[in-house]
Amino acid sequence: MKKRTKRVLVTGGAGFIGSHLCEKLLALGHEVICADNLFTGSRANVAHLAVDPRFEFVRHDIIQPLLVDADLIYNLACPAAPVHYQLNPVKTVQTNVVGTYNMLELARQTRARILQASTSEVYGDPEVHPQIESYCGHVNPIGPRACYDEGKRCAETLLTDYHLQNGVEVRIARIFNTYGPRMALDDGRVVSNFAAQALRGEDVTICGDGSQTRSFCYVDDMVEGLVTLMEYEGDLAEKPVNLGNPAEISMLELARLVIELAGSKSRIVHRPLPADDPRRRRPDISRARALLGFEPRTEIRAGLERTISYFRTRLDASDRSDLSDRSDLSGKPGQS
Ligand code: NAD
Ligand code: UDP
Repeated sequence: MKKRTKRVLVTGGAGFIGSHLCEKLLALGHEVICADNLFTGSRANVAHLAVDPRFEFVRHDIIQPLLVDADLIYNLACPAAPVHYQLNPVKTVQTNVVGTYNMLELARQTRARILQASTSEVYGDPEVHPQIESYCGHVNPIGPRACYDEGKRCAETLLTDYHLQNGVEVRIARIFNTYGPRMALDDGRVVSNFAAQALRGEDVTICGDGSQTRSFCYVDDMVEGLVTLMEYEGDLAEKPVNLGNPAEISMLELARLVIELAGSKSRIVHRPLPADDPRRRRPDISRARALLGFEPRTEIRAGLERTISYFRTRLDASDRSDLSDRSDLSGKPGQS
């Protein structure tokens, strides 16, 4: 793709990954339209970008059609934390299926290239380890995670079929656990939960015995991967690409590391393991390495230090303002 200014639509751009992506795209010289319904995202995440005349925020729910002129579409709109996507599971399915359909129609009409933020959850509780793109997954279609997992799987189907039927240029990024500044406080995801608990000196809650594993990718590395995938000029039809950091860690190790880095005296306590919680997860990123030269650079210690420092600032600010962030604390999405 030639290096020229492009009009880029980022759905879910006011969320955690989306806000970092908008920042990166502006830095690359593009014009950015950020469309978000602010279900889990916030204006605060993109407030620093609003001064740039090349940045535009549109409050929009992607389950409604959207007509804007775009060269590139990053479709990130969808709550990512289990506690958020399970609040209104039917809406989660609609966002992934109807919303993705609407963004594909826009891509077809404007001849834009579209990248879908898919997920490692398409592999479900995997029987193949590490997870490679050719593995079709092990998903319970009627479990509590199904609205997200099956919604994302159907979105992948839609992208593939729009490519085959309509020649739309598509990119499918299977994103593995990503963390960093601007994750919502106490959104139930493990990094934000552990960090907030450790900083407050509360018990750090491990689900199950803590032997289950995840592989955490720092947000800057993920954004680099997403942009490189979008810009890749070869044929990626029917070729999803895993993006993540293959360094695997158990939740017990993670809890100990967060407590140490936060300088906390928190205790570790155990809670029941939620239904269908995957036992192990680690991306095989051979395809991303070979096609894109993708290589995550941020080690978990360095990434966690930056993330904990962000949460410390947020907690200090909410203490000072006396307005504790109750919408986050209850696991309910925030307001704009
Ligand atoms: P997030 O919840 O912080 O961001 C999602 C954004 O989408 C929010 O700003 C939210 O308000 C917006 N949104 C939700 N439903 C919408 C709708 N119907 N219309 C318009 N906007 C809507 O989550 P995130 O971690 O930044 O995730 C971004 C994307 O990456 C999601 O699609 C998610 O499924 C995917 N992903 C994330 C991870 C991760 O570890 N963070 C892992 C795999 C996949
Ligand atoms: N988890 C945990 N304590 C928490 C929150 C989550 O032990 O306070 C566990 C959860 O059961 C899962 C892992 O951490 O095994 C990752 O959970 P998260 O919701 O962050 O992501 P996902 O399960 O979608 O990968």
